[in-house]
Amino acid sequence: MGDHNTDTEAILRRALEASGQRFTEQRSAVFRFLRSTESHPTADEVFLRVRSDVPGISLATVYKSLETLVGCGLAAKLTYGDGSARYDGRTDDHHHVRCLECGSVVDLPGRVDAHEVHRLEASAEGFRVTGVRLELTGYCPGCDTPTSAAPA
Ligand code: ZN
Ligand code: MN
Repeated sequence: MGDHNTDTEAILRRALEASGQRFTEQRSAVFRFLRSTESHPTADEVFLRVRSDVPGISLATVYKSLETLVGCGLAAKLTYGDGSARYDGRTDDHHHVRCLECGSVVDLPGRVDAHEVHRLEASAEGFRVTGVRLELTGYCPGCDTPTSAAPA
């Protein structure tokens, strides 16, 4: 095993090269941060974190780097109905629970039975299904106060 940073950089270099993209320090910093966190950050949050490592990096560069990583299959983009987006350094199949109050997104250790997914897929008549996205919604421990839990 090489050291962790070297492995991360090698993974990034290979994936960028395979998509005809250049390795840059900015992309590397964004990728390292995404791999180091389980917080599913927004582009703004990534920007706030990486600008200490890469002085002078702009929000636009962070945004483009994130999109490049998604395009290379190194990150996933989670989009929501209100137009917001979060980024996930984990690209293996997994599900999330999302807080309706603060917007936090957490990985679920549990999985839906593959058989159940196939059963659902079979019911999607006429559709060529290419993926599944399952998200639980509710209130995180920090937001689960009696007021937010009360129905409107
Ligand atoms: Zn919350
Ligand atoms: Mn995730």
